[in-house]
Amino acid sequence: MIEKTTQSVTNLGYHAHIYYDPTKTRAVAERVCAALGDKFPVEIEEFRDTPRGPHPISNALIIFKPDQFEHVVPYLMLNREGLDVLVHPLTTDAVEDHSSYAIWLGNPVELKLHTLPRGRGGQLPSGVSA
Ligand code: ZN
Repeated sequence: MIEKTTQSVTNLGYHAHIYYDPTKTRAVAERVCAALGDKFPVEIEEFRDTPRGPHPISNALIIFKPDQFEHVVPYLMLNREGLDVLVHPLTTDAVEDHSSYAIWLGNPVELKLHTLPRGRGGQLPSGVSA
């Protein structure tokens, strides 16, 4: 049996999901995303005002390549303005991506993992294909 290691798990990018309340903190999320987009080559994909997929509450999706992790995550640690953020990789197992491989800034949100495939489950960065 081959153990999954950092060497054998192929990761093609990351998502940062910035959670917000559409009636209270959407403007905060917009500000955090705009600042991120100004500083780093990330894709600000969309603001989802309603629950979607495994995410039970509204969130803004940021997509970035592996080489941006060291820049984006430390920035968000210090500049998330109180919002909760999920950062997850994009491997071949979306369930693991959103659970054991994930990191949280702020408070974890309970995700609906049963909605995810045991396969690639998230949008990859532009120009990256599986
Ligand atoms: Zn995602």
